[in-house]
This record gives sequence, C-alpha cells and structure tokens, in this order.
Amino acid sequence: MNPHDSFDLAHVPADALGICERLRSAGKRAWIVGGCVRDTLLGKTISDWDVATDALPKELMKLFPRAIPTGLQHGTVTVVMHGQHYEVTTLRGETTYSDGRRPDAVHFVDDIVADLARRDFTVNAIAVDPSNGALVDPFDGRRDLASKILRAVGKPIERFSEDGLRVLRAARFCATLELDIEPATFAAIAPTLDTFRKVSAERVRDEWVKTMKAKLPSRAFEVMRETGILGVTCPELLEGVGMEQNKWHSFDVWKHAMACMDACGGDAVLRIAALLHDVGKPRSRAFSDKTQDYTFYDHDKIGAEIAEPIATRLRFSNDERARIVSLVRNHLFHYDAWSDQAVRRWIKRVGIDRILDLYTLNEADLRGKGPIFGEADLAPLIALRAHVEKVLAEGAALSTRDLVIDGNTLIKELGVKPGRVIGAVLEALLEVVIADPAQNEREALLARAREMIRELSGQA
Ligand code: ATP
Ligand code: MG
Repeated sequence: MNPHDSFDLAHVPADALGICERLRSAGKRAWIVGGCVRDTLLGKTISDWDVATDALPKELMKLFPRAIPTGLQHGTVTVVMHGQHYEVTTLRGETTYSDGRRPDAVHFVDDIVADLARRDFTVNAIAVDPSNGALVDPFDGRRDLASKILRAVGKPIERFSEDGLRVLRAARFCATLELDIEPATFAAIAPTLDTFRKVSAERVRDEWVKTMKAKLPSRAFEVMRETGILGVTCPELLEGVGMEQNKWHSFDVWKHAMACMDACGGDAVLRIAALLHDVGKPRSRAFSDKTQDYTFYDHDKIGAEIAEPIATRLRFSNDERARIVSLVRNHLFHYDAWSDQAVRRWIKRVGIDRILDLYTLNEADLRGKGPIFGEADLAPLIALRAHVEKVLAEGAALSTRDLVIDGNTLIKELGVKPGRVIGAVLEALLEVVIADPAQNEREALLARAREMIRELSGQA
C-alpha cells in the first residue's frame, strides 16, 4: 500500500474504533467518513466522528441495543460512549429529491463508493478503513484539500438541484475551511437558486451561525453575494454593495460590513450584529452641502428597524433577536470626555448586559474602516471603558432595582395602589438619581415620589 493512501488511526478515538470493531466481528464492514476525516486531514481537532457501515438499521439496533434511533428511516443511529455521541449510518445510494430538501426514498447499498458518491463535496467524500487506515477517496478529495478547492461530487447543477442546502454549505465551507470554490461548482449556484429557496429559515440560520466560526466569515458572504444566495435570504444587505461612504471610511457600506464582521471577535450572534450594524446606512444616506460629503443620520435607528424583521425571518430566538437589534441600535457612540452623568445615562440606555458586546462591536467597527484605521483611533473606546469602570465601581444606581426604595415602599408609605403608576414613578426616580447619585436616599426619594404622585393625581 502506498503510504500516502493511509491515515494515521492514532487520531481516531478508541471508542469509534471499538464501534467499527464490533461491526466487523459481526461480519459487517465499517468506515470512518465525512467531516471528521476531512478535518483530521486538515490537522484540526474533531468533535463529531461518523461511521458508515453496511449493517442495516435493525442490525445496528441489535448490535448496539442502547443506541438512540436518531433517524432510523435514514439509517442513522447514535451510539453514546463515555458521553461522546457517534453517528453510525447505513451506507446509502443516490436517490431522487423532488422537494429539494429530502430524498424521496432512502435506499441502502453495500458499496462505500456509492455512499460517497451521494455526498456533497469531494472533500467530504473521503472514507477511512479503520482496520488498516486505508483511504477510500474516489473523487480525489485529498487532492482538492491540498489545493484548497471546494468541488461538488459529480455534476454540480444536478447536485445543487437535488438539495438546496448544499449551495449554502458550499459558501460556509469556503469560509470555515478557507477553500476557493471551483469555477463549475460556483457557476452552478445561480441557476439552482429555486431549489435553495425551499430551504427552511432555521437551516439558513444554522448555516449562518456555523459560518461565524470561521476566521473570516466574509469569504462565505462574498460567495453568497456573488451567486445570488444573499439576494434570496437577505436582500437588505445588498443595498450597501458599491455604496460609497465618506471621508471617514476606506470601504463602501458592504465591504465595511464584511470587514467589521471579520474583525469582530466573540460569538456567532455578536458577529451577526456586526454584519447588520450598518444595514440602515443605504436608506439614510444624504449629501450634506455643508460638509460636501455623505451623512447617514439615524442609520442606527433605521438599521435596528431593518434588523428586527431580518432576525425574525431567520428564526433567531427572542433573546438573540433582542440582542442583535439593540446592538445595531446602540452601535454608534463617540466618547469625548463625557461627564459621569453622561456615562451613567449611556449605561442605562444601552443596558448593562450589552456593554461588553458594544466594546467588541465598536472596536470591530473601527478596525473595519480599512486602511484609514490607526490604533490611535481606539483611544476614545479605551477612555470610555475606563470611565465606565469608575462609574460602576462607585456603585451608582443604573436600574430601578438599584434604588433604595421599591414598589412596596411606595405602596406602604404613600398608599399608592399597585399598578402602572409604580413603575412610572420608579423610572422617574431613577432619572433623578442618575443625574445626582446623592439623591438615592430614602427620605429624599419618598419626598420626590410624593410630589410626582400629587402631580399625577392633579392631572387625572
Ligand atoms: P460540519 O459538521 O462542520 O457541519 P460536516 O461536513 O461534517 O461539517 P455534517 O452535516 O456533519 O457536515 O455531515 C456529515 C457528512 O455528511 C458530510 O461530510 C457530507 O459527506 C455528508 N453530507 C451532509 N450534508 C449533506 C448534504 N446536504 N448533501 C450531501 N451530503 C451531505
Ligand atoms: Mg459533522
């Protein structure tokens, strides 16, 4: 055997090899296959190990009685060992896809090459024989991995017309695996977008989230833009393509969003906020005669209004959507020797839980300006952080919970009836305390509250 045809089995967990061994002793064959083989060849660490076998699903359940029947009709069971999940799937052959999402029928085969042929990309269609480390690589996936190329298995137009998710996976792999998409594979995306349109919003969201794990997610979003995928899922972002900004930026609106997202550390949802942070710019751009340059008044507010339905459409959870929208809404701030009071107001407005996100986003926003950015541009952000630290260390009240009196005090001391008035009075008291923390004192607040209630009942 050619040494280049083998795979170092030392990478494979003993439990995965044990599963294959158990299948072999029952007279079946088994291979390690898919993303885990690809990622091992790329030198990455693997979390999900997948096994393909010629054992039929009911045989699998007999051999692994405690396996979870994850997708029996597709031939998949999950074997759990030492807390790790291993997906064991019966070899499947090619089939028809009339809905662009799921195969019409699953038919099992006993040929690993037939199983590999129904997989999406050559780099995902490599199997390893765990008895000797021999590689089964009928579509030259290793060659493509070495030349950093993403290529569909078989005829790309056919493969993309079968299953609409594949075009989005293609975009994602370009970013996460840092591959370039092969021209014929690329060219097959635009003509098959009708199949892509059938993909559910949840799956699109999942792909976006996975894409955000890449060092440079922009690689995927550029592919999505060029091929028309993005026009299907998020046309709002295309409004910024080629849209010139002003002297403060080196990039157009779209390129800046790409650069900001790439520069933004943190989790996937934060990076999605970075992607969307300037989505309001195209609809707010105006030319100022005074500055002889473009302005983008209210683009943060308009952007939040645009981001909200996007996040809803992509089925982000309520919390995730709220986070994205508030980050877009509050991304714009220019600290310039603010007073303590101004800092307290800023914290209250953006919400204490969002401050760290906003620091990360703001830094990415600045870095995403392109060559015009210099490290010195971070000075206001650094100064704001120090000022926020100081204000927080002083223990200033920033929410109604921090007031020395609460709703019960108002009910007991002032005879206020439970209801909306209480919340309104507490909010108004918080305003007083943010302006002057010394006012956060029981008698002072009760006196203020009494006045407010008198005024309110006078109005009624
Ligand atoms: P990751 O786990 O990082 O998302 P992966 O390539 O392992 O990447 P999985 O969804 O775990 O993706 O799928 C495992 C394997 O199944 C893939 O490597 C590929 O061979 C095959 N596969 C997955 N989805 C598809 C699809 N939509 N069309 C064809 N083959 C697919
Ligand atoms: Mg996987």
